[in-house]
Amino acid sequence: MLDTLKNRFEQGYRTNNYPKERIQLSERYRGVPKINKEAPSDLIIRCARACPQDAIDSAKKMVDMGRCVFCGTCERVSGGQFISFTSNFEASVARREDLLTDGTLPDLAAHSKQHFKKLFGRSLQLRQVSAGGCNACEADLNVLATPFFDLARFGINFVASPRHSDGLVVTGPISRNMRRALLHTYEAMPAPKVVIAVGSCAITGGPFRGSPEVSEGVDTILPVDLYIPGCPSHPMTNLHALLTFFK
Ligand code: SF4
Ligand code: SF4
Repeated sequence: MLDTLKNRFEQGYRTNNYPKERIQLSERYRGVPKINKEAPSDLIIRCARACPQDAIDSAKKMVDMGRCVFCGTCERVSGGQFISFTSNFEASVARREDLLTDGTLPDLAAHSKQHFKKLFGRSLQLRQVSAGGCNACEADLNVLATPFFDLARFGINFVASPRHSDGLVVTGPISRNMRRALLHTYEAMPAPKVVIAVGSCAITGGPFRGSPEVSEGVDTILPVDLYIPGCPSHPMTNLHALLTFFK
């Protein structure tokens, strides 16, 4: 007992103070892209051709963050002249079309739905379904339960049963075998229900896009309320999205 208390005293309070205090992520982290529309068009085309996700629209000079896996190839190819990645993790949106971006994203708070805030602002129970994901998106959601993030202090929890949940959090490209399970989970949830797509797989199929074995995103199957991009999405991106959209 004394050892436990001593350890607690030595460790101190480790939970971050976001959103009251800003969190600075590593410079190596790739968050919201910064796009230089004045870059030479041949360089933009080279970036678009090099992108493994076909995420760069060279005509519009925009990046589709729903497809992007944040591999950094475009930044390397352009030497940062066309695209460079910022450490801004506040990357989530309420509308799929807003993920096609020139580097500026709409304010998520302005697009959050007031009735969701009213219903779930003090208590939000989420059921997570991994629909064929690689487990990285799932791991970065799990980490929200650790002392540093301590998601439960905001009244947000992950629960075991869809019957106890207000929202469905989907990761993975929804493989053919998981499609029915996902739909059953959604149907088992009481209304009104929220659907959150986490990661490029859940938003567009991610690296598996185009395979007949996966879907082209959750919103081809279910109505999605919140899109959290990334591959995987950073835990801070997840936290920002949940707090901004529901609190
Ligand atoms: S970082 Fe995104 S946009 Fe750039 S090459 Fe990789 S997938 Fe394409
Ligand atoms: S989006 Fe990336 S990290 Fe997430 S499940 Fe798909 S491949 Fe894995």
